[in-house]
Amino acid sequence: MKRKLRMGMVGGGKDAFIGAVHRIAAFMDGKIELVCGAFSIDPQISKESGEELFVDPSRVYESYGQMIEKESQLPEGERMDFLTIVTPNFLHFAPAKMALENGFDVVIEKPMTVSLDEAKELKEIVEKTGRTLCLTHTYSGYPMIKQAKAMIKAGHFGKIRKIVVEYPQGWLSRLSEREGNAGAAWRADPKKSGLSLVMGDIGTHAAHLAEYVSGLRITELCADLTTFVEGRQLDDDGSVLLRFEQGAKGVLMASQISAGEENAVRIRIYGEEGGLEWANEDPNNLIIKMLDQPRQIYRTGNAYAAPFTLSSFATHNTRVPAGHPEGLLESFANIYRNFAATVSAKKEGRVPTPEQLDFPSVDDGVRGMAFVQNVVQSNESNEKWTKFVL
Ligand code: NAD
Repeated sequence: MKRKLRMGMVGGGKDAFIGAVHRIAAFMDGKIELVCGAFSIDPQISKESGEELFVDPSRVYESYGQMIEKESQLPEGERMDFLTIVTPNFLHFAPAKMALENGFDVVIEKPMTVSLDEAKELKEIVEKTGRTLCLTHTYSGYPMIKQAKAMIKAGHFGKIRKIVVEYPQGWLSRLSEREGNAGAAWRADPKKSGLSLVMGDIGTHAAHLAEYVSGLRITELCADLTTFVEGRQLDDDGSVLLRFEQGAKGVLMASQISAGEENAVRIRIYGEEGGLEWANEDPNNLIIKMLDQPRQIYRTGNAYAAPFTLSSFATHNTRVPAGHPEGLLESFANIYRNFAATVSAKKEGRVPTPEQLDFPSVDDGVRGMAFVQNVVQSNESNEKWTKFVL
């Protein structure tokens, strides 16, 4: 591409959390520029946010509907190329549908929608329009997660037996939704959040990570959800036993009442010959534990000699030399860079490389919403195992 891709945004104003992270990630590699937005539910905040971001005031809109309509009418050389959706969960589907149907590609936050039905409908729209949809499952963008996936795929650990994935947080240990925390308020509201708070908000990240790294899909589950904080309308803690393809078994823990925890995502996977461990709080390390061998640590950005060479997927998603820490922002930027490369390739009639195509898609979004629905059904059921149905 001889130019940057033009990005529009719904949500992500001065009153928001994750929108600013998206902008940092999108801009990191110089391939994307922000040209328009409906940045807030409050038009005044949207206007002020646009001013702070130096967006042309004529392209700061009062609603996403107005934005998509007006942008579609601009000449091709000016209009946005894609829409980033960083609104609360219940406001993902409608702008995504409208953007796709008006010829725009989409970057969308997880959980992709509030229900499995909406997710399936979105998949149909993506297929019908031929547009690209990228789902921002942050944790699968890390280079050492790519390395873990590549080593499992290459059979380094033998047949996979056990997958343990955890996402404990402590920030909802109190009734924050009644204490003026706007992010907690919509998350704890079933109409705005979906069927499950903990599984929609962070369980989907954990389930995606388990399937992405292992390359195995969940086939059955047995779930236990709890609302620990009195007065809360949705669950805030969950434990799930998992069965995967090819006989692997697993455990997923997602909790927002793990008092004192920050974002302690961790995954451990064990095969017949050895296992691996990765933690979000130490993301440049991948610990390898083989039977009858000392423990090894693979680190981001090293030019290891064979047979320890880092995979092309790990190096493609690394920016700085070894020893300079990369983290959440770079992982997020990897998702944007791969999405932008894929969109640019499609615009120019080129075939994207496998490394460029490596970002979460609408299919991952459908699986995420199926995971939430199946977990909730399992929690309510007396049957021990619930089939993972899409
Ligand atoms: P937030 O409450 O901090 O911000 C929401 C933003 O959306 C605000 O700017 C609000 O004004 C705006 N908004 C609401 N309705 C709107 C409308 N109709 N038009 C335009 N703007 C509107 O929420 P957040 O924490 O930033 O979360 C947003 C989304 O991102 C959620 O789906 C959440 O699950 C997801 N998220 C993902 C990650 C991740 O790691 N990938 C992290 C945090 C949040």
